[in-house]
Amino acid sequence: MKVRTRFAPSPTGYLHLGGARTALFSWAFARHFGGTFVLRIEDTDLERSTPEAVQAIIEGMEWLGLQHDEGPFYQMKRMERYSAVLAEMLAAGSAYHCYSSPEEVEAMREKQRAIGEKPRYDGTWRPEAGKTLPSIPADRKPVIRFKNPLDGEVTWDDVVKGQITIANREMDDLVIARPDGTPTYNFCVAVDDWDMQITHVIRGDDHVNNTPRQINILQALGATLPKYGHVPMILGADGEKLSKRHGAVSVMDYPAQGYLPEAMLNYLSRLGWSHGDDEVFSMEQMCSWFNLDHLSKSPAQFNPEKLAWLNNHYIKLADNSRLAGLVKPAMPDAQFDGAPPLDAVIGLLKERANTTVELANSAMLFYRQPQPDAALLVQHLTDAVRPALQSFVEQCATVAWNKADLSALMKSTLAAHGLKMPQLAMPLRLLVTGQLQTPSIDAVLELFGRDVVVSRILQGI
Ligand code: GLU
Repeated sequence: MKVRTRFAPSPTGYLHLGGARTALFSWAFARHFGGTFVLRIEDTDLERSTPEAVQAIIEGMEWLGLQHDEGPFYQMKRMERYSAVLAEMLAAGSAYHCYSSPEEVEAMREKQRAIGEKPRYDGTWRPEAGKTLPSIPADRKPVIRFKNPLDGEVTWDDVVKGQITIANREMDDLVIARPDGTPTYNFCVAVDDWDMQITHVIRGDDHVNNTPRQINILQALGATLPKYGHVPMILGADGEKLSKRHGAVSVMDYPAQGYLPEAMLNYLSRLGWSHGDDEVFSMEQMCSWFNLDHLSKSPAQFNPEKLAWLNNHYIKLADNSRLAGLVKPAMPDAQFDGAPPLDAVIGLLKERANTTVELANSAMLFYRQPQPDAALLVQHLTDAVRPALQSFVEQCATVAWNKADLSALMKSTLAAHGLKMPQLAMPLRLLVTGQLQTPSIDAVLELFGRDVVVSRILQGI
């Protein structure tokens, strides 16, 4: 059997973290078995579906690198196929026209509720052997209902949740086409999974209730059933359903906030799945490990600190020139002329950055004119320190311009003037960068270059 999985989002908003995680699991499972990953856009809800949302989903998948092998297939472009299947089902007797008006259906439900029964369609138009159907009301367009089995039960071995059984009497005859002929949700999903020969349906557990209906439709169509795995949802750290309150929920907010796709993928992989104690791994490893055996039955909790920690890990690994491409757009006010190259600055700063936005902010140190606070200057540029700075700047003219020699020069200057390191390092930081917090001062001076360092010190003392 060749594995075929799908991601089937409804384009009604952004690609949220839960959707991305479902897509990732389906993709990784297909990759693990050398199978096919299908992208299907479930756009039949015309009021809520938008082309912008389709775009957002595709962009999100591209950013994450979850490349689909087939599709995107749009349900709205498959209407002819659904009509053909509906006609076949009507002919085969697994579906029937129902002329009950919405008011009549509501009245049925009312009556059932009144006697404490679960509201359901009462089967007025369901054809049975020997049964005479009512006469067809004039000018009424019928819906099409699926003839759900009356007895027995639907059982499937959910790859996440274990065996699930639902009695057929719990389900009434589902409307599979509206009076205008448009097919309904569960029917389209079943036909698509059948046509696209999906072998494994991995999706959020908000769909568990749809599964027995889809299984019955697939069985009526004579389709081979896929395996189903319903992944528990992602909760916020407070145990509530993940929402805006917990930070960004749209995947595409994360690049804007300075996250790398490999950090996001690594993070999402561990939301509801594990491989021993492994926390940090590549997508090659994920794909080689991911086989549905270690999916968690309980909801995963979103932890922004862990995501930030992973992002820092991947920033440290990332190529400086790649990071420069991400960081530069976040530095609109930077003056790059005559300043050190951004790649080198990033090399110095990336160790401590959780996001590329943080990296951009800290890199600005090198790309703006220093404006040291006057009170801080008074505090750090004392008469005791001034002669040391004077001698330091003089020797800057001839010292070999590298971190080690600059560090040695600072130490010899301190010794000659009987000072301690902060007494020289702090005013140097203030004069050259305008701030007291910087990475190691010798590295900062090296990057700024001799001319800038000398001129800024001379201007200040
Ligand atoms: N379109 C559904 C959703 O976005 C998913 C359907 C499925 O995976 O079967 O929730």
